[in-house]
Formats: sequence, C-alpha cells, structure tokens
Amino acid sequence: MAGKIVINEGLCKGCILCVEFCPRGLIKPTKELNAKGYYVVVFESDDGECTACTLCAVICPEVAIEVYRE
Ligand code: SF4
Ligand code: SF4
Repeated sequence: MAGKIVINEGLCKGCILCVEFCPRGLIKPTKELNAKGYYVVVFESDDGECTACTLCAVICPEVAIEVYRE
C-alpha cells in the first residue's frame, strides 16, 4: 500500500526518532529551525516508496506526523 506523511513542523522537536525508525529512510534531518528553535525533519519520497506503515507516527513523541494511505 502506498502512502504519504505530513509533518507538523510547529510541533516537531527535532528528536530524529522518526528518521531512525522509518524502515525506508524517507525522513531526513534538516538545518531548518521552526519557531521554537528546533531543527525540523522533512519527508522525501518518490511515489510508492512510503508504505503507510505508521511507524514514524507511532514513534513520534510530539504526535507531529500524520499518515495518509493512497
Ligand atoms: S509511514 Fe512508514 S514508510 Fe512511510 S514515512 Fe512513515 S515510517 Fe516511513
Ligand atoms: S519523531 Fe516527531 S518530534 Fe521527533 S523529529 Fe520526528 S517529527 Fe520531529
């Protein structure tokens, strides 16, 4: 199943747990700061790479990730 995620940058605290847990390596750290001063992460995926497994959303302590199935 293909999917995509939306990261709420305002909630992200830059802990990079999602980066470490995505089995496909689709979430990357950035050097961009959000309004709270945390480095945010970004979702980088070609069509079909994300399986909507929800691991990233489950592991995120800030509930900053929403997963959508397509
Ligand atoms: S839903 Fe799964 S495959 Fe998609 S970005 Fe999150 S951890 Fe990676
Ligand atoms: S797990 Fe959540 S808070 Fe941590 S870097 Fe990922 S989106 Fe941000």
